[in-house]
Amino acid sequence: MECRLDGQVAVVTGGSSGLGQGIALLFGRAGAAVVVNYHGSQEGAEDVVRQIEAGGGRAVAVRADVSQQAEVDAMFAKAVEHFGAVDILVANSGIQKDAAFTELTLEDWRKVIDTNLTGQFLCAQAAVRQFRQQGDRGVSKARGKILHMSSVHEVVPWAGHANYAASKGGVSLLMRTLAQEVAEEGIRVNGIAPGAIRTAINADALEGEGAEEVLRLIPYNRIGDPEDVARVALFLASDMADYVVGATLFVDGGMTLYPGFRDNG
Ligand code: NAD
Repeated sequence: MECRLDGQVAVVTGGSSGLGQGIALLFGRAGAAVVVNYHGSQEGAEDVVRQIEAGGGRAVAVRADVSQQAEVDAMFAKAVEHFGAVDILVANSGIQKDAAFTELTLEDWRKVIDTNLTGQFLCAQAAVRQFRQQGDRGVSKARGKILHMSSVHEVVPWAGHANYAASKGGVSLLMRTLAQEVAEEGIRVNGIAPGAIRTAINADALEGEGAEEVLRLIPYNRIGDPEDVARVALFLASDMADYVVGATLFVDGGMTLYPGFRDNG
């Protein structure tokens, strides 16, 4: 049995680059109509749309700042206007603004929490409201599916990144709490926690010596690609994962296995 999303509509936030782009492209190939959300790069989003359409799929680029409720609501309205419904949300948008703890400004604390945590809250709330309004469309076993993009830093503390780690720790319990609250309605909510995946968010950190240092933290000994995460997102969004509710799937080459203990003993 293949993971397919035929007849379903997926909203992918931050779909113009990195993990979101990989997920949007794979969901398009799996038969979903994709709403490619972007914040900065309209060009990037339009390119993803073109690629999906070239493969015979359907997609539309929609701009929205996920930290702004009115823009999130407008994005969902546009999704429904274009494709008639929303069946899957991938709340993927996220940013980093790193600083040593005492140097971290309130502005950069708020910016990261607003995008990474409040943004996921607003998108998930809009999605659940839409799932309820449209009822059971008969396109999938679940009535709606939500994937929250977290990080290994939902469990691994990260010095110099207090805002980011706090946002992902928050995403973890937001996801599990929402999963518990809406599961009885047939809505499946799950999380993905990637390790080091090569994208724009960490391009500098994964170059040269940086890459070697990071590899020491990865038992599987390679840095991930967006496709590694996209395949897991497809599985979780598909009926293949129909009994998976409130789980976080770590996609990290073993980064959360305390690799420092390999040589300790
Ligand atoms: P990326 O920078 O390519 O993608 C982030 C996306 O979020 C961009 O498309 C950006 O435009 C969008 N975005 C930022 N602010 C936004 C806003 N206010 N409204 C809407 N969109 C906004 O980096 P990425 O690695 O693809 O990151 C995607 C997600 O994966 C993030 O949540 C990140 O925390 C998470 N993640 C990435 C890694 C990794 O190693 N790359 C590891 C763990 C978790």
